[in-house]
Amino acid sequence: MTLYQECRLCPRECGVNRSGGASEGHAGFCKETSQLRISHVGPHFGEEPPLTGTHGSGTIFFSGCSLRCSYCQNYQISRDGLGQPVDLDEVTRRVERMIRDHHVHNINLVTPDHFLPHAFSLISLLRRKGYSLPTVFNISGYQSVPILKLAELYADIYLPDFKYADPALAAKFSRSGDYADVALRAISEMIRQKGFLDSFDSGSLLASRGAMVRHLILPGYVENSINALTTLFLEFGALLPISLMSQYSPVLHHEEESMNRTLTAEEFQAVYAHAVDLGFVHLFVQFPEERGPGIKPPFLPDFRLNQPFFTPHD
Ligand code: SF4
Repeated sequence: MTLYQECRLCPRECGVNRSGGASEGHAGFCKETSQLRISHVGPHFGEEPPLTGTHGSGTIFFSGCSLRCSYCQNYQISRDGLGQPVDLDEVTRRVERMIRDHHVHNINLVTPDHFLPHAFSLISLLRRKGYSLPTVFNISGYQSVPILKLAELYADIYLPDFKYADPALAAKFSRSGDYADVALRAISEMIRQKGFLDSFDSGSLLASRGAMVRHLILPGYVENSINALTTLFLEFGALLPISLMSQYSPVLHHEEESMNRTLTAEEFQAVYAHAVDLGFVHLFVQFPEERGPGIKPPFLPDFRLNQPFFTPHD
């Protein structure tokens, strides 16, 4: 927990003393003190098939975020701070209940960066209690290598984004002009530790170890997506597992006009065709037409509800 003092848990390196919790701790860019806050614990069926399986991925959504993108699909928790203060025992109980009741395939920590000391403790506790489910670090890609080295013992699967190849776009939307450089170093470290997602080679339908990179296509920014995919291909090669996401929905009014609509079929097709042309071998794709006309995007959550996500039983 000393990592909360002079906090450098993410590349923002605010250096604030977050320890002391909500009453005494200071919040940095992520807006969170060392008081752990969680917005949701539950099975999630919107992840890629090797993580979702048949019983769902066991997600834990942490409140706050160190990136705070202006278009975040989870803005209720990342930017507006929705969530409840909890202690480690309470989270552990909720995770155990989720495992027991839903038989989820993994423990999926969604945006844990700014609460990593708690995340490490939670995983240690669960392992001591005999749980051996793979742990997924579901993260923005904006991570520092020294912190990832600390995570090596606790992570089995890394699921980073690679959001931007364009520094100006990263600066404008996420106030992180160094995003591409930082994320490429971070993804290299994740692959060094765990390799590529293992479900393709093992013949298993479920992943137990490795890295897969996600890229969300932003409306009006096809060139950023094309350059991001090219960069990933040149850095890591054709065997890098990629998840190409077309689910973007405007959730807040955005100053960039194109960001107030969903992706067009032409935009999606241009990016998808580029990914195929590059020759990525392991490519997960959300095809926009799979949503069906007039259907609310199934991946858009509402964290004010007990069950924020669509489930197959809805
Ligand atoms: S985790 Fe929060 S306080 Fe710490 S460096 Fe990152 S943004 Fe700053």
